[in-house]
Amino acid sequence: MYEANSQRYEQMQYRPVGNSGLHLPAISLGLWHNFGSVDPLSNQKALLEYAFDHGITHFDLANNYGPVPGSAESNFGHVLHEELAAYRDEMIISTKAGYLMWPGPYGEWGSRKHLIASLDQSLKRLGLDYVDIFYHHRPDDNTPLVETAEALAQIVRSGKALYIGISNYKPEATVKMSALLHDLHVPFIIQQQRYNMFNREPETGLFQALADEHLGAITFSPLAQGLLSDRYLNGIPKDSRAARPSSPFLHEDKVEATLSTVKKLNALAQNRGQSLAAMALAWNLRQPVVASVLVGASRTSQLADNLEALKHRKHPITDRLENQ
Ligand code: NDP
Repeated sequence: MYEANSQRYEQMQYRPVGNSGLHLPAISLGLWHNFGSVDPLSNQKALLEYAFDHGITHFDLANNYGPVPGSAESNFGHVLHEELAAYRDEMIISTKAGYLMWPGPYGEWGSRKHLIASLDQSLKRLGLDYVDIFYHHRPDDNTPLVETAEALAQIVRSGKALYIGISNYKPEATVKMSALLHDLHVPFIIQQQRYNMFNREPETGLFQALADEHLGAITFSPLAQGLLSDRYLNGIPKDSRAARPSSPFLHEDKVEATLSTVKKLNALAQNRGQSLAAMALAWNLRQPVVASVLVGASRTSQLADNLEALKHRKHPITDRLENQ
């Protein structure tokens, strides 16, 4: 029977999410990849326990994570109930709805019908009565924003989620949603967005909008799916995400196109005495509005490497680059 490491809260930093009462670990674990029905359950269990043993209290899911869609929630629910049930109240578990999950007009987007039905399915797969954060996964131009907002309000009032987040919304839509949810007294606290050295779009308006609204950010793909690490420095390993046929966005051509930049960044990281992955995460965490960076991992050694980022959050070189 798993017993959590008694030192688990000693190294991790917990950062406030906007002006809410919730704190998230600086590094959170996402289950988009490596937790599907195609992935060994023993490795999933090892990753979840390693993460929790090192203060990673936040686990991020979505209805469609797998493959097959839904299997990441079922697998997480299985490990949670078999091994980690005693620690439920030490965890922040999130899920989302909005991307395609089942056929027909109610299986995706932002209608009341989709959001409520999808969360009910997620709770069954997870074996939970509630999630800590429920996200609308992507904006929907064909559903009135107020309908999505009212569905999110109903979800909180019915006790199925404690906090609300949105993901992939532009700054203007984020501000509109914030006003609607504020009027409905919904604890809307967080926005989930891609942010890494290859994609700095949130710096052009989103981060400022979140700060103005007193919301927090949680950034996904902080390693650009592994590109910002030593994973691809010597070719494309057979067991890597870029080599997986099920990987929708990272392919061999992307690895080749970024390699010379990645090599330069790797040399910079080595001069700082850290891995490129650790530097990329520390770079991400330098943004005050970022409550947490959401990493993926296929093995515990990657999590160990990523946790090293916490030792280098402030450094003269990144501070200088930042100010250029
Ligand atoms: P990352 O950028 O952290 O990429 C994770 C991958 O990078 C791993 O699977 C691994 O690749 C590689 N990796 C991680 N650490 C290391 C290391 N130290 N050294 C070498 N390689 C490393 O994030 P993801 O793209 O996985 O996204 C993280 C989470 O964000 C998701 O699980 C999900 O929860 C969330 N997300 C949300 C989205 C949204 O629309 N809201 C969209 C995308 C993600 P390999 O498997 O090859 O070993």
